[in-house]
Amino acid sequence: MSFIDNAKRGKAAPLFIRSAGIITMDPTLGDFVTGDISVRDGKIEAVGERLTPAPDAEIIDGRAMIAMPGLIDAHRHLWEGVIRNSLPTDDLFEYFQHVNEGFGGHYRPEDAYLGTLVGALGAIDAGITTLFDWSHIQTNRKYTSAVLAALRESGLRTVFAYGPAGRRDQGATWPGDLLALKAEEFPSDDALVTLALGGLSPEHVPAEFAAYMFDLARDADVVNTVHAGLNGMGKGGEILEFARQGRLGPKVNLVHCNTLSADEWKAIADTGTTVTTTPMTEMQMGQGVPPVQKARDVGVTISLGVDVETSEPSDLWTQMRLIYGLQRMNTFELQFAGKEHPPRIDCNDLLNYVTTAGAAATAMEGKIGSLAPGTQADILLLNARHINVMPVNDMRSAVALGMDARNVDTVMVAGRILKQGGQLLGVDLDALGRELYASRDYVFAQYKFELPSPAHRL
Ligand SMILES: [Zn+2]
Repeated sequence: MSFIDNAKRGKAAPLFIRSAGIITMDPTLGDFVTGDISVRDGKIEAVGERLTPAPDAEIIDGRAMIAMPGLIDAHRHLWEGVIRNSLPTDDLFEYFQHVNEGFGGHYRPEDAYLGTLVGALGAIDAGITTLFDWSHIQTNRKYTSAVLAALRESGLRTVFAYGPAGRRDQGATWPGDLLALKAEEFPSDDALVTLALGGLSPEHVPAEFAAYMFDLARDADVVNTVHAGLNGMGKGGEILEFARQGRLGPKVNLVHCNTLSADEWKAIADTGTTVTTTPMTEMQMGQGVPPVQKARDVGVTISLGVDVETSEPSDLWTQMRLIYGLQRMNTFELQFAGKEHPPRIDCNDLLNYVTTAGAAATAMEGKIGSLAPGTQADILLLNARHINVMPVNDMRSAVALGMDARNVDTVMVAGRILKQGGQLLGVDLDALGRELYASRDYVFAQYKFELPSPAHRL
């Protein structure tokens, strides 16, 4: 199966974006009201005012556009694309039952491929250029191959977090073959799809097993991304114990962290461990209060993720606004109660969460998350003349608060254009839709899942 015509996407040719508003997210470069970006070999060559294009560069008109680094979704389970919006009211434990034990047990490799592909394309459409995919559908290596095929075909920059099986009796080899998988499938760190471990927390599995996974990821020199600190799950204090054992660090990414203690937060800050919050699932499914303030109190910058499309939209704009409302609401509540309150977050914080902090969570700082010479050309051109944002009175607040996927005109990953003029390039939506609906019918029938309102099914 293939649904993408790569000829229509073109190659990473030399490009020159002329006269765009530019938010670089690079503290030295700052922003430009009118600037140029030169791209060569998939990387940014120069950013500045009144640059001269190379003779071989294709010129892209950036007028009426805001250029910024592509957004980074630091936590998603892409394979669930087939079962989008099917679990709107599940709490976390109902979700586990339906997804991990239900649908996941009935997926075939082709369902994992289709779910991952449609999720990845939806992410690109919404301006995401890098996504950390916690893939717990690794029932056996056929599933691994299917998911990797989808990720590579999508053109999205992804970190594939090798996770548990959908069904455990079908020859699963996770996590023990992580090093072998790295040698076989990930010979280069420069590839668009790189490897991580979807590990488990000592809060949720025996500490020896969790320690084994932390060691394995360290030996493979990959990020270990771990769900931690969720309401109603496991025993507390285990993350602190792992910190004492020297197991935390910049290549450990903890997701959610809603219930972690003050000591655990201090240990996270001291060790440079990264934290990703997924505001909508945490609020809606009961994991706990998104830890934006707890993180800020110890100087940790959170990254954001969509988490699951079984009940969430596929974009980061929604997540940004939820965290904006939440943190500011809480500070106002303290203020009007006459209590001391922390500073309120602003649009700069939001933009950091979805760019530079995402780069740290994926261990790609300096490579993605900003537009500066030498970084990857993962660039968005956002339409500033769309009816929903003009006139743009402030670029940063227009992006952080006013825009959404409608404004995503152009998406470039490693200098390759995947979306232009508001359209995904080279995607056969009809063919993908046909296969996706067939896959949907199959997994729902196999699992015998009753939708809350079958009459509303398309
Ligand atoms: Zn998750």
